[in-house]
Amino acid sequence: MYKNKLSAGPFGEILAAVKNESLKDPMAAVSDTGRILLKNGTVVDPKNNMEEVTDVLLAGGQVVEVGGGIASEKGDRVIDCEGLLVVPGLIDMHLHLGDLFEVSTNPIHESAQDGVTTALSPGAGNTLMAPALLGAEVDRGLPVNIGVYIGAANMLATMLDVDELVDLFLGKLDEEVASTKMTRNMITYVTAPLTVGIKEHMGHFLMPDESIDKIFEITSRAKLINMTHTQDPEHAQRLVALSKGRPIHLAHTTAAGCGTHGGAREGMETVVELLRQEHVTGEFVTTMMREGLGSREGISMTKASQQVAFDALESGLVDILISDGQNDATMKGFGDTRDNIPALIELAQKGILTRSKAIATMTANPAKLIAEKTGNGWWTEKMGHLGVGASGNVTIIDEKDKLATYTIVNGEMVSFENRTVRRGNGAGGWVSKYGMVKRVGTGNFNTFSYEK
Ligand SMILES: [Zn+2]
Ligand SMILES: [Zn+2]
Repeated sequence: MYKNKLSAGPFGEILAAVKNESLKDPMAAVSDTGRILLKNGTVVDPKNNMEEVTDVLLAGGQVVEVGGGIASEKGDRVIDCEGLLVVPGLIDMHLHLGDLFEVSTNPIHESAQDGVTTALSPGAGNTLMAPALLGAEVDRGLPVNIGVYIGAANMLATMLDVDELVDLFLGKLDEEVASTKMTRNMITYVTAPLTVGIKEHMGHFLMPDESIDKIFEITSRAKLINMTHTQDPEHAQRLVALSKGRPIHLAHTTAAGCGTHGGAREGMETVVELLRQEHVTGEFVTTMMREGLGSREGISMTKASQQVAFDALESGLVDILISDGQNDATMKGFGDTRDNIPALIELAQKGILTRSKAIATMTANPAKLIAEKTGNGWWTEKMGHLGVGASGNVTIIDEKDKLATYTIVNGEMVSFENRTVRRGNGAGGWVSKYGMVKRVGTGNFNTFSYEK
């Protein structure tokens, strides 16, 4: 006869059932505390110099306790993290999400599956309306925290002058000025400042020197990240020359080491030289840090140019990694979020970075860079670490299969073992240079009314 090790007893305490013509709902009696207890994981929290086996407790969307032997309470979700790395939620500060024409692919959910908890999307085509548009998607329910950079050319597309644009991003622009010189849609005026920066892109537009100077003036005075598409080393040199000491970030710097515009190693050496200046920062693409050197049907480094990049990582000249997108997305970047976790693990295995320093490239370091560039301490207080009071963003990694075993965003499980948890839609918020809001509000409009 058939035998079953389990009796129906324990299930009776969990499963809905019918008993003697009436409905049983045992879970109704269990309070849902919303707490998640991560037990016995190897917590690697570079900002707080922590690398030890311990517990992390999340509640109310935040980290509320870190330490050994945290007791669970009725209603807690307890996750056994033994043998897994528990790290601050990965911040991918260059990841194209919801970019133009993104209609048939799903990079937002896929990035959550790959352990990304917070992403900043640098669409060169983004206009001043981008926060309202992508913000509506956040309102309708997305599993990750999202922010945007606005395309540089679009930044100068209105009648606003530089002083007025600076005021706009500081929340000081007069409504009257906005309605006559910027937009006839007040939603755009209200939400435009909810950005993190500007993306200048040589592949979309070559701007005249005087326009680029205006862009630097806006970003340096309004404390926005100024990001340039780095690929042609000569273009990067031109932009750095025009920056005249004002902050500039060389996006996907390793693309200059792929030989699309001159020699690969020479190109990488040229941009690394630019990074030695105090006001110039950079980021490397995770896909390009792996054995495959890049994307076979995209662009790839050579062994020699990759070594130049490794040296820059080892010396600390660059301490940020990004994915730049997903290869099957409409806005195909130079890499893929699926390479993020493998790249972090492999850099540590190769001895180029310690494990803690490797994890920091997508946690504490981008948070610190964004805080410094935007002058806003929220980014280091709440993001990129697992100290008490930090936002409840956690990525749990299995070093053996190099996958995100769990992705937790604002205290909610959004993915497990590379699979989206549908209930996690809506966990994400909108991030700007000033911090995060859970809702932008544009996705909640169901009617518009205009005064006649
Ligand atoms: Zn780019
Ligand atoms: Zn990009």
